[in-house]
Amino acid sequence: MTRINSSIGESIKSIPKGESFIDFDFLKGADLRHDWTLQEIKEILDLPLMDLLWRAQIAHRSYNPGYKVQLASLLSVKTGGCSEDCAYCPQSVHNDTEVDPIPTLQVDSVLQKARVAKDAGADRFCMGWAWREIKDGIAFDSMLEMIRGVRKLGLEACVTAGMLTDNQALRLAEAGLTAYNHNLDTSPEHYSKIISTRTYEDRLKTLQRVRTAGITVCCGGIIGMGESISDRASLLRVLATLNPHPESVPINALVAVEGTPMGDLSSIDPLEMVRMVATARIIMPKSKIRLSAGRQQLGREAQILCLQSGANSIFYGDMLLTTSNPEVEADRKLLSDAGVQVNFPLD
Ligand code: SF4
Repeated sequence: MTRINSSIGESIKSIPKGESFIDFDFLKGADLRHDWTLQEIKEILDLPLMDLLWRAQIAHRSYNPGYKVQLASLLSVKTGGCSEDCAYCPQSVHNDTEVDPIPTLQVDSVLQKARVAKDAGADRFCMGWAWREIKDGIAFDSMLEMIRGVRKLGLEACVTAGMLTDNQALRLAEAGLTAYNHNLDTSPEHYSKIISTRTYEDRLKTLQRVRTAGITVCCGGIIGMGESISDRASLLRVLATLNPHPESVPINALVAVEGTPMGDLSSIDPLEMVRMVATARIIMPKSKIRLSAGRQQLGREAQILCLQSGANSIFYGDMLLTTSNPEVEADRKLLSDAGVQVNFPLD
């Protein structure tokens, strides 16, 4: 619901510089819902673009004043050789791609990269392991050490490493983990076309374990994998009916990689990404909406529209796990040109 106070009827000219005629305080809390229906979300996704952008901006400005953007850096700690069969992923052993398994990075080397990311302006450091699930042992102990080290640097720490047990989630929380990423990828209806080696229910249980351990949840999906608009709405409905909403919602566009079953799919229209971001912002107004994989295909203007309509984090750095990402300098210029505030001074 949008309330515009009566000053609009008098004269917009009389509004003091820097003040809005929209009562943003009134909006706070008004739209934080967990009972969204598929039909409602489809209608939002399908709004005329200008109306969608307007609604998204109202939600965004009311919950996230100041257009601040968080810079997150993502490092692949364990690359390739994953036993899962995600159809989009170059790291799956089921897909014949140029990504070869490489030895897992050691703690020192990861922390060195975290320092570099911090110096470049990131304040969240995300680490990925191409695993079906976390296994106890040396590798898990190293992961805990990396988390402690990243937190000591003053950075938020996020891990993505597949499924986990209750006890592993508690140990991650004890190490100071800020967030655990586990994406739903797509809608429950489209899911079987993307992956067969773990169920949607498995994913939801993992998210619950993370939540119960007191770690914040990072969970989103990918568009451009042959899904329908209804599938996109359905994915968003699952996310927006979690209570609480995931604190972080990465929205990815497929990066089609040769050798995967999705290697021949064409890129989405950038405005589809804008619609997805805007809708996510409206229905999960407090969450960090992260503009993630596929940014390179969007172009500057569409990225700025995404920022305008509610994206308040980007992955920053030259690589996203195994696919390329816009260069740091290009990102700095983009953010500066967009006039958004970031976690480091732009010069
Ligand atoms: S679980 Fe992760 S690393 Fe493994 S195939 Fe799926 S997306 Fe790739």
